[in-house]
Amino acid sequence: MCGISAWFGKNACERVYEILLEIQHRGHDAAGIAFLENGGLKVVGGNGFVWNAIDISKLSSHSHLAIGHVRYSTSGSYGGAYQPVLGSKKIIALAFNGNIINFNEAANLVLGKKSYLWDAKAFVDILEKLYMEHGNLADAMKEASYILEGSYSLVAVSSKGEIIVARDPRGIRPLAYSLGEEFLAVASETAALSTIGLEWKELGRGQLIYCQEPGSCSKESLGRVLKPAYCAFEYIYFLRPDSFFEGVNAHEARKRMGAKLAEKDYVEADLVAPVPDSGRSAAIGYAIRRGMPLDEVIYRNRFSGRAFISAPSIRRKVLLKKFQVIKESVRGKRIILVDDSIVRGDTSRHLVKLLREAGAKEIHLRSAAPPIISPCFFGIDMPTRRELIAYSRSIEEIRKYIGVDTLIYNTVKDIEESVGRPLCLGCFTSIYPIKVRIDKLELLFSKGRR
Ligand code: SF4
Repeated sequence: MCGISAWFGKNACERVYEILLEIQHRGHDAAGIAFLENGGLKVVGGNGFVWNAIDISKLSSHSHLAIGHVRYSTSGSYGGAYQPVLGSKKIIALAFNGNIINFNEAANLVLGKKSYLWDAKAFVDILEKLYMEHGNLADAMKEASYILEGSYSLVAVSSKGEIIVARDPRGIRPLAYSLGEEFLAVASETAALSTIGLEWKELGRGQLIYCQEPGSCSKESLGRVLKPAYCAFEYIYFLRPDSFFEGVNAHEARKRMGAKLAEKDYVEADLVAPVPDSGRSAAIGYAIRRGMPLDEVIYRNRFSGRAFISAPSIRRKVLLKKFQVIKESVRGKRIILVDDSIVRGDTSRHLVKLLREAGAKEIHLRSAAPPIISPCFFGIDMPTRRELIAYSRSIEEIRKYIGVDTLIYNTVKDIEESVGRPLCLGCFTSIYPIKVRIDKLELLFSKGRR
């Protein structure tokens, strides 16, 4: 998962930086900003959080056109690479959220070369080549949409001062924008634009915005618009609770997921506790539906990062540091512990251990998401089946592994009803909106990762 931002108008770098801070939760492996200055595109970026990755002294104070990216690696290596990425001829810069699953075949078709390790680099080179043929970014992207398969919400700029904003034909990832008389603002999430005081709209699937001047943008169709498949995991975990995706507020959708869990649960307990922060909305929905007290018995250090989106080599370190249990609230209690999902099971297992050590009498784990049985190739870092606890284990085996007294998951139908939009549910069903060869893509997207 990644986040993107753009600003066409005054103080572009400053505004893009500001938006990136608001979508920092979408990735903290790396961050960058590309901007137009003196007829050329420049990129500033690096590893880590926005404030570490981007040296603000290297940004332009007078550029009118900038795009930005926060990276959570789903393709290529965890460290080193960051977006926006420049095309080989340096006339296009691209920032995108998603994954292109046929990037080497597409590069072979358009560029006659098939040796890319990273989909973002292949994407920008393909777009740049098509741009040189068409002389217009919008037309280049329209053609690219017929060649590239996968998920993408993107912003791209040319050294001639054009910008495009586009969302893939199925709308797998979210994208919002705000258009004023003298500016265009773009963010992966609506909440980022609300926070900086802007009215927003969501870009529809298969739509594109093209501007040569901030005040005169056109909204067009990519030409290729397919059956919608909005990522269910955005609603379950990724979006900020105050964001909307296809008109649905994430916090409210998660509360409905929590209520669904409560409706199938008859276990007696003393309190409901969320796994902070992403289990909180579902826990609230659960507690309201069952009329039970909700208590925050786990403290999460917000500055240690999100364990799920950290590189595997540091994930365990992040995990051990980030949670503390409040013993006084836990001792002798029967606890309903609500989390958004159980991916690898390591976070849940660790928390249960901490709760037991603090004297919890019973722990009943509830997962808002159904069991995750299949990888994601569309922008969430779950590229192989073997890392998913539910791929090869029954619910009873997972319960034992995590060490809880009972374990209940929501069903796919619960998620569909809680969200009320057409969803991609591939990681829960193995049925994807795009035809995939799981074994082939597992190899492609796990290559070079550690
Ligand atoms: S496979 Fe799962 S995580 Fe990936 S896009 Fe579909 S719902 Fe989202």
